[in-house]
Amino acid sequence: MLPPRLSRRSRRKAGESAVKARQERAKVKELVMNGELFFFDLFEDERNSVKRMKLMDLLHSVPGIGKVRAEIIMGKAQISPSRRIGGVGKRQLETLRQEFLLIKNSRRSGKLLVVSGPSGVGKSTLTNRMRGDERFWISVSVTTRSMRTGEVDGVDYHFVSDAIFDEMIKKEEFLEWASFAGAKYGTPRRDVEAALQLGKNVILEIELNGARQVRKNSKDAVLIFIEPPSWEELTARLVKRGTESVDSTQARLDRAKEELSAASEFDYVVVNHQVDESVAQLVSLALR
Ligand code: 5GP
Repeated sequence: MLPPRLSRRSRRKAGESAVKARQERAKVKELVMNGELFFFDLFEDERNSVKRMKLMDLLHSVPGIGKVRAEIIMGKAQISPSRRIGGVGKRQLETLRQEFLLIKNSRRSGKLLVVSGPSGVGKSTLTNRMRGDERFWISVSVTTRSMRTGEVDGVDYHFVSDAIFDEMIKKEEFLEWASFAGAKYGTPRRDVEAALQLGKNVILEIELNGARQVRKNSKDAVLIFIEPPSWEELTARLVKRGTESVDSTQARLDRAKEELSAASEFDYVVVNHQVDESVAQLVSLALR
């Protein structure tokens, strides 16, 4: 059966009310963005146009919230991203209010710290030591290299195929990425932004080209270079580690020369003589 035909007058009326609703929604969003309308007052608004607005769109318009925080709040309150204002129950509203306040009042954004230096210098040993410290959050990179014995997917790296990595580049999911000794490595942007917004000091343990990208794009980032006590010591550490093939060891040593000559581009240099000492230096530089 065909739907009833609307008279020209009814069609005009329907068109006019759609325009009116659109204008109302745009106005509400603008007021929320400017901080002139308190987000939680929207739940008492009786207008249908407001009730049909998506909670997520409005939440990330709130000053100081943004997309990442909005996603965290909705996730913690267990509300689907497609939920509309009018579809939020009393209980959910209360959880939403609590999570909103928690996030809004959380400490100011954390610092972005880059720890770089030649392969084998001991960067991961140092940053791994900082894992238990809740002032820091150590970023887990994505890589296309194969997993070494003892490594755990999702802990040491997120191990992915070349195709997935390329897809992530296309979708601009990396804060930075680079090729190194035959594989690709990248820092997932979302995770880093979320941790920073929660007030964590985020540590990226990355090679030189990645560090340069961070320097260019994040002016406030603090760049720390880890140096070996000597070239002989670096060679010995890399060989002793025994994780690489002969070719890969050579590729890493070739890159190490280039990396070492770039130390002056960094804000600080820590010479890794002894692990405890270097960790203490890193922590104090990071919290400065
Ligand atoms: P490995 O294969 O020894 O774990 O790492 C090789 C190099 O890649 C190291 O210098 C390490 O710091 C660097 N690296 C690890 N993750 C990333 C990343 O996300 N981005 C960049 N640019 N380098 C990374």
